[in-house]
Amino acid sequence: MLKERVVFDDLEIGQLAVDLDDQEPEDVIEWALNTFGENVAIVTALQADGMAILDMAYQMSPEVRVLTVDTGRLPPETLAFVDDVRRRYPLVRFDVRRPDHGEVDAMVRRNGTELFRESVENRLMCCQIRKVRPLTQALEGLDAWFTGLRRDQWASRAAITKVQLDHDHDGIVKVNPLADWSAEEVDEYLREFDVPVHPLYAQGFTSIGCQPCTRPVRDGEDDRAGRWWWESDAPKECGMHCPIETGGFEHEVHAILGEANEDGY
Ligand code: SF4
Repeated sequence: MLKERVVFDDLEIGQLAVDLDDQEPEDVIEWALNTFGENVAIVTALQADGMAILDMAYQMSPEVRVLTVDTGRLPPETLAFVDDVRRRYPLVRFDVRRPDHGEVDAMVRRNGTELFRESVENRLMCCQIRKVRPLTQALEGLDAWFTGLRRDQWASRAAITKVQLDHDHDGIVKVNPLADWSAEEVDEYLREFDVPVHPLYAQGFTSIGCQPCTRPVRDGEDDRAGRWWWESDAPKECGMHCPIETGGFEHEVHAILGEANEDGY
């Protein structure tokens, strides 16, 4: 029997955002687990914020669902870390998504493997095909997802609330338990509870994504300065957490995929 969806409207979620705003992350997570049950998942690249949420949720619901994506360009340290996390949290239900081979092949054949260095549009297209689409597909059927977004990460994230409707993904609920935490508070939690941390943090990385698009940050730089560092005046976002409005972008993706279909992919 199909499970009934748990759906909120804008007014309800606005009131919930107010009610939950001064709640601790654990309380927000507990509310979400109780409200959405099986139909909520932690979406994470296993960075510090996601690991804190995973650890908190595991204490309450060890079989919590975790979604992550292997873009095909991850550093080997990330792939090894996934195994470490599986060992530490053996009951977690991991769902590792991968991009569509045909879409990746078509993009690379037309634009090359390093297309993301050539323009912001190309970079957003690569993120869309390798990361956003697999995750978007994984969100289908869910009522809510946890993110590790924090208000102090980047200007585009300054106004996030602890719960919000995700109109880019069928109006499901986005739960941001760490919205009002700082990076220091997250680190403190990880140390206190001996939570595994990604090994690249020890090498100066502060935000870890695909290998060719991530570098360590220098003293005084913003935490996300190591992502797509060659770009100027572009949001440090992959498109998962904000609408992409780059004019011909969607047209370009469709053109590539159209060509791919003609080629039999
Ligand atoms: S981070 Fe870089 S390699 Fe990874 S999907 Fe985005 S553009 Fe492509």
